[in-house]
Amino acid sequence: MSKPILLLNCGSSSVKYQVIDAESEAVMAIGLIQRIGEDEGTIDHSVGSEKYSQQRAFPDHRIALQQMAAMFAEYGPELKDVVAVGHRCVHGGERFRETTVIDESVIAAMQELIPLAPLHNPPGIAGIEAARAQLPDVKHVAIFDTAFFATLPPQAYTYAIDTDIAKRYGIRKYGFHGTSHSYVSKQAAAFLEKDYSQINQIVAHLGNGASISAIQGGVAVDTSMGLTPLAGLVMGTRSGDVDPGLHGFLAAQAQMSLAEVNTFLNNKSGMQGLSGVNDFRDLEKLIAAGDERAKLAMDVYVRRLLTYVGSYMAVLGGVDVLTFTAGVGENSPDVREKLVRALEPWGFILDPKANQERSKQPRRISTVDSPVTVLVVPTNEELAMARETLAAIS
Ligand code: ADP
Repeated sequence: MSKPILLLNCGSSSVKYQVIDAESEAVMAIGLIQRIGEDEGTIDHSVGSEKYSQQRAFPDHRIALQQMAAMFAEYGPELKDVVAVGHRCVHGGERFRETTVIDESVIAAMQELIPLAPLHNPPGIAGIEAARAQLPDVKHVAIFDTAFFATLPPQAYTYAIDTDIAKRYGIRKYGFHGTSHSYVSKQAAAFLEKDYSQINQIVAHLGNGASISAIQGGVAVDTSMGLTPLAGLVMGTRSGDVDPGLHGFLAAQAQMSLAEVNTFLNNKSGMQGLSGVNDFRDLEKLIAAGDERAKLAMDVYVRRLLTYVGSYMAVLGGVDVLTFTAGVGENSPDVREKLVRALEPWGFILDPKANQERSKQPRRISTVDSPVTVLVVPTNEELAMARETLAAIS
């Protein structure tokens, strides 16, 4: 029997949705609502190979989801068959350590967490409230980006700052992209036919946002994002790690306000700041054309990755599997080659031909006798959410 699950990912001005049959894991519909809150927005709805688009104003998430329901009514599949709704929630703070069935107390707790994710949690909550109004008879489930990292030990999540202040404001490393790190590490173990609890893994989720995690016997023990998703690796437009003194320095020397420093580090830094482009397809073209800035940007990107892999190998006491995932990790043989070549002295032996192959399937890119196995495993956050939702309601 089919078990359609509606998955919602609500941003401040957009909603991504999918219906996945949790039994067969087939995608039944995919949609995207854009420019919520503007004078005119769009909704794109696809069912199989059929695509439907409409333009109209969506003043808020409630009206956007009403229109989503209208698209389902007109073009299918039937929303009344949906058995549960899974909501992607960015920040679960210390309270939410796992996927949680939503009730009033969960919404109240999520509201209390808004200071930790002021840009992400409010639209998430608006989406939950709108979807509960739309589909009041099924369970709604919150899947937190932070939950997979709830197992980090205190020595990994504690910042070396005054403990009273840290406690009062909930300042610690939380980690993000957890749904992807969890899904990909499980897929990697399944692909290798290894027991998840018996191997040490490093997962590099390299998308527009990027993070890396150390997973010891199936338990996350460290990750590169922190209190916010700005920390760690170099990203499309985010700086990742910088000297914490940089904020004060920019304020004093460049007369930037705190808001300006935030925008600078989140939107104008990373590969964009270094090379003028944030997309690796553009970056690779610039490098091929001999652009020195682009070349340096790539070197900085790979160096940061290398230092994280090295430190996570030390934290784990040895690693069995390194896995690349997300847009860059799945599609840039150059990034993978540069990193794995630098790791060769530590037992990572690249198979250059396998590294060049394109596929939507999990695959090995190290040689068969490489002491450490290197994989590419496509992430699928919606499928991971569908599995989590089914488990939470069962
Ligand atoms: P997010 O979900 O964080 O927005 P994705 O995981 O979809 O990001 O990754 C998007 C990024 O992946 C793009 O910005 C681009 O840099 C990279 N990317 C996508 N396709 C390719 C490709 N064919 N070659 C190189 N990089 C790619």
